[in-house]
Parts: sequence; structure tokens; C-alpha cells
Amino acid sequence: MDYFREAAEIYAGFLSHCHEDHLDGLTTFNLPVYCSDATKELILRLKTRNERANTQVTSTPRFAHLRSNLVALPMNIPTKVSVGKVEVKVTLIEANHCPGSVMFLFETSTASVLVTGDIRAEPWVVNSFINHPFLIPYASCKPLDCIYMDTTFAYRNNGCPPYLEIGPNGPSVEELLQLLERYPSDTRFVFNKVGTLGYEQIWIRIWARFHEKVHIDQYHLQLYQAIMDFDSTARQLVLNCVTSDPTAARFHACSPSCRDYLESSSYVVYLSPVVDFHPLDVKILQSTYPSHQKGFKLVPGLSTSRLPVYTCQGLPAYRRYMLHNGEYFPLSLPFYYSRHSSYRETTHLINSFQPRQVYPCTTRLEYYKNGFSMQDLFGPYCRTASNGFRHDQEMLSQVVQVPIPKESPVLAHRESSDSSNSSHGSILEMLCHNLKQAAASTTGGNHDRYNSPNAKHHPRRAPRLKRIVASRTLSVDPRLRAKRTTTIVK
Ligand SMILES: [Zn+2]
Ligand SMILES: [Zn+2]
Repeated sequence: MDYFREAAEIYAGFLSHCHEDHLDGLTTFNLPVYCSDATKELILRLKTRNERANTQVTSTPRFAHLRSNLVALPMNIPTKVSVGKVEVKVTLIEANHCPGSVMFLFETSTASVLVTGDIRAEPWVVNSFINHPFLIPYASCKPLDCIYMDTTFAYRNNGCPPYLEIGPNGPSVEELLQLLERYPSDTRFVFNKVGTLGYEQIWIRIWARFHEKVHIDQYHLQLYQAIMDFDSTARQLVLNCVTSDPTAARFHACSPSCRDYLESSSYVVYLSPVVDFHPLDVKILQSTYPSHQKGFKLVPGLSTSRLPVYTCQGLPAYRRYMLHNGEYFPLSLPFYYSRHSSYRETTHLINSFQPRQVYPCTTRLEYYKNGFSMQDLFGPYCRTASNGFRHDQEMLSQVVQVPIPKESPVLAHRESSDSSNSSHGSILEMLCHNLKQAAASTTGGNHDRYNSPNAKHHPRRAPRLKRIVASRTLSVDPRLRAKRTTTIVK
């Protein structure tokens, strides 16, 4: 799954989506690779940044030779796939991460496994899963053996808030666009850090609010055109929301950017998707509101164009503002946008199915030593066997070299917990939560995540495990660093 190195007992590959960090080994993988229609068409056309920059050479896309290996499976319809000697029923379910991204539900007569791939499990997404015709049995009464979960934001290193609250993307983008409406009408807006697929709803929302097309580069336009028969987002984009003509566009998501051309004639505001807000960013956001401007002393700053700009005393010089109708508007703005789930969202998904086992899609021994165990994260949301999570046993065996016990019968007992009522406030409310957490971790405050305001969501760490791990200071085997979990379907 999302890792393509041939080995004994690997008979096929499954690809959840087209992002580069999921394609390791794919160029030389000679076995069938199952994916969605959209992912297949995207993979066949993928080019690196260098290949795209070199317009003199018409290079063949590096995965173009895989056309016969890539096998597109239908969405939402269980399809029988032979993997070695075993026949597996495979169902692809939209994962809300980027065009073509899917979860895989694998079912045999004796086992059932859900692999999320990368996923943004916003509440509406999880609600769609528990009402999906082929997931309803597992959400109601049928035991699901295992979920391989995207745990990208379920664990943070020291110095970061342990659990970030990330609001749903839609309301966050709408808040941003409401701010942009107040800028002068000839302002140009350039999106930074949106060079990979997965930001499409921003372009659709811009078109819906401003009735204007977003400038994207020819390469991305061709990718969307290639999948518009399979993907409703791509279809909406191509038909209405994006253009490859930069001249008339106020909004730009192009790569390379036309910023130099734009800056010569009008103010340009840079917009960046983030999940970790810095305290300075809060000040910047607040500075767009007149009622919050009292604490700001603005002075003329250096401009790269003929247009005057201002900087704020106490803030770095690169934080610049324009003056419009007596109000200062920042020339760079962060906004919440995440293609991965927050910890709260992952627990909502896990709790909705209460599987017997959970594996993280990526894992590190260092993380495990610091408390990144499935028992810690998901214990109360699962109907796990009495001997715990196999992932934890496997990681523990790396540390203390203990044998992994055989699986014991599933416990009938199921702890109840309810995270399905998760709701998110405004961006500023989430900022306050995240900043409180950041302050606690950077000022020597209490690092114990179990004392956080969300403590009820956080299961207690298994004390025995913690003691054993803490007593060892083994160096980490480099092979275990950020290893993507490989699912072998026999
Ligand atoms: Zn991804
Ligand atoms: Zn542009």
C-alpha cells in the first residue's frame, strides 16, 4: 500500500493517491497497482518540478510506461481482486484529501481491513462513511478487524502543541475570502505553497464568491482536464473556475508564479495555508479589523514597487501593509487549511467503527518511545484484544526484543466514548486554543497532554509500556525512521 518495493509474498500494490511521498519504488514496480480512475490518469501525467520547468525538452512523464500495470477500480462498488492465491473484495471510498484520493476497504471471508491513506476526516466526511452502503455494517454491529489510519497530526514533537485543533477547510476559506472582499478591487492575490493537488475547493469557492477564475499553470490545467470525466471537482474547475491566462486574473495559484509581473502594477497579497499559527499571525489577522488596530503603530516601509507600504513597529519588516480608506491591510495572510485530519477527527473516525486493531500509516520508533502508541491514541475507541495493539507490540519488540504474542480473542467489553459531537468555532477560537497549548509547551508549562482542555479525549498512557521504553536509551535503527507501513494482503 503506497509503497512499491517487490518482495516475497507481495503480489500487488494499492495506491491511495498521487502525492509524491506515496510513490516510493513505483517506477520499477512490475506488479499490478490498483487505484482510482482519477489517480491512474494523474499518475500517467505526473512531472517533477524540474521536468515542468524545462519547457525546451518534451520529456515523457516518468510513470507513462505503467499504463498497463495501473488498474483502475470503480468507486464505491466492491470489486473482486486476486492477490496471490487469495480473492479479496476491494471497495474504494473517496478520502477528501486530493483529486482521486481513496480509502480502501479490503474484505475476505475471514477478515476486514480499512486503509484510509491520507485523509481529511472532517465531521461531514466521517458521517458520510458511517452512512456508506458498504460501511454501514461495520459502523453498526459487524466487527472491523483493523484500520490503517493517517496519523499525521495525531502526534507532534516536543515544542509543538500536542494536539492541534484544525477547523474544517470550507469555513476557514470562507472567512479568508470575506477578508479579501474588503481589499481594494485592483488588488492581486497570490497563493503560496499550493503547488500540489488538494487545494481545489479554494478555487471553487473563489469563483462562487467573486465570479472570477483563478490562474493556474498549464500543467495543472491539463491534469484536471485529464480527470474531469471521473472527478466532479476537476470538472467544476475546468468548466468554470480556473484559467491558464494570467492577464485578467486577480487570483493566482500558478507555479512558477507571475508575482514579478503582478507586483509592477498593483498591490499583491500573499496567502498561505497553514495548520500551525504563529502568535504574530494572530496580530496580522487582527490588524485587518479597525477595532483591534489601537496597539499598532505603522510606519512607512521599503516597497518593491512604486506603491507605498507600511510596517508595524514591533513586527518584522517583512510584515507589510497597504493603506486603504484609513485602514491598514496586511500584504500577507495565513489561513487554516489542512489536507490531513486533526487528532480529534481521527478519534471520531476510529470511534465510529471501533476496530479491533489500529495501525498508523507511518511510524517511527522515536515517536513510539515518546508515547505514540495506538493504546495511547485510540485505546478507548477500539474493541481491542486483551493483549493490546499489535503495532505497539511490534514497536516494543524493537526496543526490548520481546516476542510478539499471538492474538487473543476479542473482548466483548467496549468502552463508550463520544467524539461525534465535535464542533469547531471560529479561526480565532482555534488560535486561542492552539496558542494556549503552544505557550504551555514553550514557557516550561505543563507538557502533559492529559491535562489539556481536551483531556477527556485523551486516553491514559499504558504505564508499564512507558516505564520500559523510558528506561532504555537505544539508538534508532535508521531503517525504522518514518517507515511507511506496508500492508501485505496474502
Ligand atoms: Zn497526500
Ligand atoms: Zn498567475
